[in-house]
Amino acid sequence: MTFDLAADLEERRRQHRFRYPLVMDGPCGRHARLEGRDYLNFCSNDYLGLANDPEVIAAFQQAASEWGVGSGASHLVCGHQRPHQELEEALAAHTGRERALLFSTGYMANLGVISALLGKADAVFEDRLNHASLLDGGLLSGARFRRFAHNDPLALERLLQRGEARRKLVVVDGVFSMDGDEAPLAALAEVCEANEAWLMVDDAHGLGVLDELGRGSLFAQGVNARTQILMGTLGKGLGAGGAFVAGSHELIETLIQFARTFIYTTAMPAAVAAATLVSLEKSRQENWRRQKLAELVKRFRAGASEQGYTLMASQTPIQPILIGSDADAMALSAALREKGFLITAIRPPTVPEGEARLRVTLSAAHELADVDALLTALEQCQK
Ligand SMILES: *Cc1c(COP(=O)(O)O)cnc(C)c1O
Repeated sequence: MTFDLAADLEERRRQHRFRYPLVMDGPCGRHARLEGRDYLNFCSNDYLGLANDPEVIAAFQQAASEWGVGSGASHLVCGHQRPHQELEEALAAHTGRERALLFSTGYMANLGVISALLGKADAVFEDRLNHASLLDGGLLSGARFRRFAHNDPLALERLLQRGEARRKLVVVDGVFSMDGDEAPLAALAEVCEANEAWLMVDDAHGLGVLDELGRGSLFAQGVNARTQILMGTLGKGLGAGGAFVAGSHELIETLIQFARTFIYTTAMPAAVAAATLVSLEKSRQENWRRQKLAELVKRFRAGASEQGYTLMASQTPIQPILIGSDADAMALSAALREKGFLITAIRPPTVPEGEARLRVTLSAAHELADVDALLTALEQCQK
């Protein structure tokens, strides 16, 4: 039989890698409601607690009344409504760049940018731990594809100095999504400059979270002017959905002409853009959210490492507990679930073999007492 799907599914099950979505019966926030029970939610990417914020919801409702639900078309036909334009301008100003361009998702932004800029004559250099969408974008582009050791600018430099290419693009996560550590951007920028490469940073997990105005990794590390391409998502720290790319006029014009995932898709609903405008403003002004996150991170790290859990080199709200085997990670996730905590186990191929983990994420929606409760539960699970 050609399509023996059952065998593949069975193999997946046998490896403890079978995945399925949980059906959530409430909004994303401090709690997650499912199967009639409330859990403390420690696995969303809603770092600032804006996904269910009353002001953001009100902006969404108001804009839905005014603009309807669907945009009705792609941006280049007639789907680009005033709120989309305003959000692009606000994102450009926020990130200190000439222009910004909206995409419907971060996945599409990454596919679109890399494949618009690179072709067979070019080369793309990616950190080994880059997000799947960056890797897929590199492969889709047809450019020569090179991966370098995680957060290792010297390894990158060796690769850059080897081969010839028309264009060289270096691509990294600003904050690595499954580890929570940050790319050494100044060192990477230096290597790029010395080798006539462009630097692209995917700041899905830095935007809203890092820098005193939430402008992300590039501002936190002082490399905004040295980074040609910034990609950010709107569905994590900003609590909405969609993504953007920010850079020079020429970059954005190029994407409008050549990024197929921008051209051939329906514009996000205007109400999402309008709601994001409000959450962006809140993320700039409400620095208490970042201060609270820092407190939660400190408390969690101190408590979990004291108990002997293996944490990762992360100062961000992504605080994975490294477990190792898939089965052990699943077992700890299930034990915590029993105690009222929702934390999904992350397994290969999302992370390398033998590095299954519980990806604990903190949010400004949490209280210190929530972290203490989690620490108590972790301690009990160890016994
Ligand atoms: C989540 C994520 C994306 C994809 O963004 P979506 O808007 O969810 O499609 C891209 N890059 C990184 C690093 C991410 O974590």
